[in-house]
This record gives sequence, C-alpha cells and structure tokens, in this order.
Amino acid sequence: MEYEDLYRLAQRPKYDCLLFDLDDTLYPLSSGLAGECGKNIKEYMVEKLGIAKDKIVELSNLLYRNYGTTMAGLRAVGYDFDYDEYHSYVHGRLPYENLKPDPQLRSLLQTLPLRKIIFTNADKVHAAKALSKLGLEDCFEGIICFETLNPTHKNTVSDDEDDIEFLGSAAATTDAPSSPKIFDIIGHFAQTNPVATLPKTPIVCKPQESAIERALKIAKINPQRTLFFDDSVRNIEAGKRVGLHTVLVGTSQRPKGADYALESIHNIKQALPELWETDMKSQVRYPGQVAVETSVTA
Ligand SMILES: [Mg+2]
Repeated sequence: MEYEDLYRLAQRPKYDCLLFDLDDTLYPLSSGLAGECGKNIKEYMVEKLGIAKDKIVELSNLLYRNYGTTMAGLRAVGYDFDYDEYHSYVHGRLPYENLKPDPQLRSLLQTLPLRKIIFTNADKVHAAKALSKLGLEDCFEGIICFETLNPTHKNTVSDDEDDIEFLGSAAATTDAPSSPKIFDIIGHFAQTNPVATLPKTPIVCKPQESAIERALKIAKINPQRTLFFDDSVRNIEAGKRVGLHTVLVGTSQRPKGADYALESIHNIKQALPELWETDMKSQVRYPGQVAVETSVTA
C-alpha cells in the first residue's frame, strides 16, 4: 500500500454509521410507554388468546426472556394471530402524549456527519409515531422495523419457500395453554432437568444474531465501522458478537459486551466527541508538535 493510502486510511473516521434502537433508547424509560406496552401485551394474551389470567405474568416473563419479545415467544409456543392486529392492540393505546419534542437530541443527531439508521423490534406505525412525537422523524436515513425483518407471516419455522402456502392460515388462535397444540413452557421450566428443547419462533427480532445480521445486510452496514445504541444488555451483547461497536443506553454502568454506557442518549457528545470531529476534517497530532487540522478525502 502506498504511503498516501496508508495515511488516508489512518485519517479515516473510525465509524461511518450509527444504528439506533428506538424505545427506551431515544427517549427515557421514565416516559412510561414500556410499562403500558407490557400491560397491553398481557391484556392481549387474556382477551385475544384466551390464556388464563393467573399464568400471564409467569408466561410473559418466560417468553420475553427466552425469545427476545413476548410476541416471538407466543408464536414459538404455538399461538397464531394477526401481527398487525397484535401491534395495534399493544401500541394503539400507548400514552404517546408523554413523548415530547426533543430539540436537543434533534440538534445532536442533525450535526452528526454519519449515516443514522433506526433498528427496532417494533412495528412501523409505532416507530413513525414515536419519532414524530419526539420531533426526530427526519433525522434518520431509514428504519429497520418488525415488518422489514418479517415481511411475510409464516406459521412454521423453515427456510423452505413452500411454506408460503400457509400464509393467512389462522389455526390455534384461541387455544388455551393446556391445549396439546401449545408448548407448555411453564411446565418445561418447572422440570428439574428439562429434556425437551424449546420450540423455535418464526419471528425474526433482536437479540437473535441472525436478525442483527439481516438488518446489517439490508442497510448495507459494515459492523466494524458502526456504533450500535440500545437499552437492552442482551441486544448489546448480541450486537457485539456480530462485530458491532456497542453503546448501552440508560445506565452509566458498562457491562461486558458494551464498549460505552450512557445514562442518557443526550450524553452522546460528552462520551463520543470524536463522532463530530469526522466532518471531512481530522485532528492530527504529531509528538511534540501543535495540532494540525487536515482535510480528509476518504
Ligand atoms: Mg429498547
């Protein structure tokens, strides 16, 4: 490699893309949306799926813990339902009025000279609404959401394209957990040594590594040159495993797997000032010399 190329490479900004989770990352947990969403999910399980009330808390915790989202878990154990209906039920009545325009974050994002993309497990209606309430709707190049990773509704887990014939089938919508069609995950974990393996979910979502890899491919993102912001430790850990640089948001306690930890997304500039220094210029320091500002044409 020519000296000039090496020099240019050394001057190239470390990152060229920022990948942001949305909920509880671009606005604080204290907004109360997450709590309300959890309540709506539990209500959906009782009202729409006919699951016994006394099992809801344990079941939803187990599903969330083992499948990334309760929705992914419900599909894995055998419930079937319309995804749009589910999303409108759990997000439709959220207190969106609690989300206020955030001009400070808007200004931070707009002055960042890097690609900025949203990566959320939520549906596109919710993502658009939340971003609009925050006044951030035009701050991102694109949104990777539930529909991006789950364009069709498959009833079985398979790579076989023939599965398309099951589209629209609505079997098992009202089965109780005791039904033979439904995998008893509570019973499974009640065993001292569970023998059966957990059923797989057809839903693609974080923290599955395959979901993150698919998102990277769709948005043509190089993980080595991308910072991934999320409030979930397990999403951050999965992001790290696929090669992303990671920022845990919502706490200043940095766990293993996170390169940075921010109490709030508003602290981004204090923690990562270099992200703003890549605006076609780079600070080059030579030992014993004063700082020289150099234009970079990378
Ligand atoms: Mg989140």
